[in-house]
Amino acid sequence: PQPVLAVVGRPNVGKSTLVNRILGRREAVVQDTPGVTRDRVAYDALWSGRKFTVVDTGGWEPDAAGLQASVAQQAEMAMRTADTIMVVVDASVGATATDEAVAKVLRRSKQPVLLVANKVDDDRLMADVASLWSLGLGQPYPVSGLHGRGSGDLLDAILAAL
Ligand code: GDP
Ligand code: MG
Repeated sequence: PQPVLAVVGRPNVGKSTLVNRILGRREAVVQDTPGVTRDRVAYDALWSGRKFTVVDTGGWEPDAAGLQASVAQQAEMAMRTADTIMVVVDASVGATATDEAVAKVLRRSKQPVLLVANKVDDDRLMADVASLWSLGLGQPYPVSGLHGRGSGDLLDAILAAL
């Protein structure tokens, strides 16, 4: 069985956009408005001759328990099922309470966790990226899922972690 990379994070941070970057094709559905119910979806990825599965967990909808609890559940599920976890935050917003809740869960992870600072479309956001060290998940990888900036370094880190 091929290794599994799970992509977690709150709605609208760009998880599906990054999944498509990793796949090199537009397969995961990108939503301009957050909160569209979809099941989690697994895709086959191939990078530098390595095959792995990418799971876009975007389908876990906030239920009665609320957004924070549901995204934390998503992270718990990822820790049970994935070999490596990629947690995505929106660098243009910074770390929210929900991001902190997810980070708290993932700090217990036995599997490698890669912290991705998405929406770094230009250099102006690089200063904000450094503040994400406070999440306690190590080095933030600045990327722009939209433009592809930083995605090569991220993919190298993913392959090293898988
Ligand atoms: P998800 O809910 O986390 O899966 O987020 P999506 O991938 O559906 O993206 C949510 C919105 O953010 C969409 O409008 C995307 O076009 C936008 N988005 C995703 N990545 C980037 C990025 O790197 N830069 C900018 N500016 N917007 C992005
Ligand atoms: Mg999505």
